[in-house]
Amino acid sequence: MPQRPDSLLDVPQVRDWMGSRLLMNVDTEERLVALTFDDGPSPRNTPPLLDLLGRLGVPATFFVLGRYARTRGDLVRRAVAEGHEVGNHGTWHVPLPLLPSALVRREVRTTGELLARILGHPPRYYRPALGWFNGRILELLREEGYRPVIGDVYPVDSKKPGTERIVERVLTRTRPGSIIILHDGGWRARSDRRQTLAAVEGIVTALRDRGYGFRTLTGLETGDAGLTRGTGSPAARDRGA
Ligand SMILES: [Zn+2]
Repeated sequence: MPQRPDSLLDVPQVRDWMGSRLLMNVDTEERLVALTFDDGPSPRNTPPLLDLLGRLGVPATFFVLGRYARTRGDLVRRAVAEGHEVGNHGTWHVPLPLLPSALVRREVRTTGELLARILGHPPRYYRPALGWFNGRILELLREEGYRPVIGDVYPVDSKKPGTERIVERVLTRTRPGSIIILHDGGWRARSDRRQTLAAVEGIVTALRDRGYGFRTLTGLETGDAGLTRGTGSPAARDRGA
């Protein structure tokens, strides 16, 4: 499948502007990528996804919503205990640029403080809802102590285009240092994400066949495989452990 020509991320000027202000992908020649999952935790999708990632030995990063995390702290704790990273995706999933700064800070801090209590430390990354941001939002997020992140591979899995298309879109766009955006949650905590879950195994298998390994976002940025699970993990294998 050809690269989607309508993606703004393919425009060099856009890439340059955004790349200097937020994390879209990591500059590396190593075949390493990060899988990220947004809009959970979901009681329907997150447990089977964690089971699957555990079976595959793949660490991931979860961008959770405070509206769900506040009653599903158990799922957040489980993800971290199993070697995954957790980032802030806001509280109500509102488009931040439409809000005055005071309300943006409330959207960010409510979930940031919740996650700090659950994790024992504030989350490092913030992914703006809907991928909506502007210069004011990025500056505000930095003031709040966050590294703003989007990603460079988005197969629009939340629109349920079919498992095969999700896999195909990811494989077409992925390159060393890519940050892949997927969803384990949605507008409802119980949104149907079976296509995404089914695609994950195909994505992991195909990327491994191409020599790729997987990291959390922090692991991808720092080159540290230490956040990943035990010595039997693919990440550890990648590093000759
Ligand atoms: Zn989202």
